[in-house]
Amino acid sequence: MIGGMDSEIYLDYAATAPLSGAARAAYAAADVPGNPHALHRPGRRAHRVLDDAREAIADALGAEVAHVIFTSGGTEADGLAIQGIFASRQLDQPRPSVLVGATEHAAVRENAQLLANRGGVVVEIPVDSNGIISLAFVADHLASAGQETALISVMAANNETGALQPVDGVVELAVAAGVPVHSDWVQAAGKLPLNFAASGLAAASISAHKLGGPGGLGALLARLRLGIAPLIGGGGQERGVRSGTVDARGAAAFAAALTETGGPAPADLEAMLAPLDALVAEHPALRALTPPWAHLPGLRSFSVAEAKGESLVYLLDRESIAVSTGSACTAGVAGPSRVLEAMGLDSAAAASAIRVSVGAASAPEHILALVRALPEAIERAQAASSVRAAPRHARLA
Ligand code: PLP
Repeated sequence: MIGGMDSEIYLDYAATAPLSGAARAAYAAADVPGNPHALHRPGRRAHRVLDDAREAIADALGAEVAHVIFTSGGTEADGLAIQGIFASRQLDQPRPSVLVGATEHAAVRENAQLLANRGGVVVEIPVDSNGIISLAFVADHLASAGQETALISVMAANNETGALQPVDGVVELAVAAGVPVHSDWVQAAGKLPLNFAASGLAAASISAHKLGGPGGLGALLARLRLGIAPLIGGGGQERGVRSGTVDARGAAAFAAALTETGGPAPADLEAMLAPLDALVAEHPALRALTPPWAHLPGLRSFSVAEAKGESLVYLLDRESIAVSTGSACTAGVAGPSRVLEAMGLDSAAAASAIRVSVGAASAPEHILALVRALPEAIERAQAASSVRAAPRHARLA
């Protein structure tokens, strides 16, 4: 259901999750006047709201209260980690190298690329055909260039395929080499058990709107002794690392969404997707891209032979079913997915992927409706793609 229309089926939770009931209620309850950084009573009340939210988020993720630095979302948390740690690690000696997984979200990849202007050299960790990074590559890199490595960033779960990365293995190698590791937890938070203190990570990013909280809010969990240079100057809020007035109401809603209980268990989300798995296994045009073992619960990605993912999204949208292309659209423009290309798919296959993701308000009937609509949508998308691929004179004939 989208926008209150019962007939619409929303299967794009990985893009954004509908605002949860608990988040909505928490936002309304926390709607107190007062800047949380002001000294008067209203300000102190707002500050308590913010403190409670910070504590709930820290508890849910095995972090200390002081680890939580609120940001405007996952992108800013990733940028603060990549650029901020890099800058701080240059203070005593040059450390140009930044190691990032080849299938990271643009929020990590593009922030790493920005470091080229400051002497940074981005090294991509290759992935196998399931999208899993090579630990051997990380080990070799650290053996030869550990001293010059500013940081490593490897996501917990991929937003396009749901593949889980061996972050523990990366941390083990990096700690031995004295290199801090950041992990993008944006897709994993709220879906996988995560414990920041036990993880050995230096920093991890989360985003509220991916887990039923409001848009425009996220957090970087960061160790206290980790050096992070701020990206922007200002009033020195959030440990002096992220200036700007924090949205206390939004933080309360974020915490409520993260700690909400009683939603579907991961096993229920997986069971819901079983009819789709069966269709993908038997349909000759479909190929599963989500690894069958270690993946995010409730997410599936598959490629469609001889079709464009974009066409399928539009065709299914006409049936009131919202899914997304495999490639994270950048400002609405879909193209071949860099993630899928890194996994070895050619550009046609990498532009043909569809991602289906379910969550709290999803129901088995939604997946059954998708499975009923898909075969015809595939045929029509394939026909559209063959018309577009035909030479011009053939099209006019
Ligand atoms: N990292 C991952 C893995 C994501 O899926 C996303 C959102 O698409 C982001 C970062 C960016 O998060 P936000 O939309 O909160 O900026």
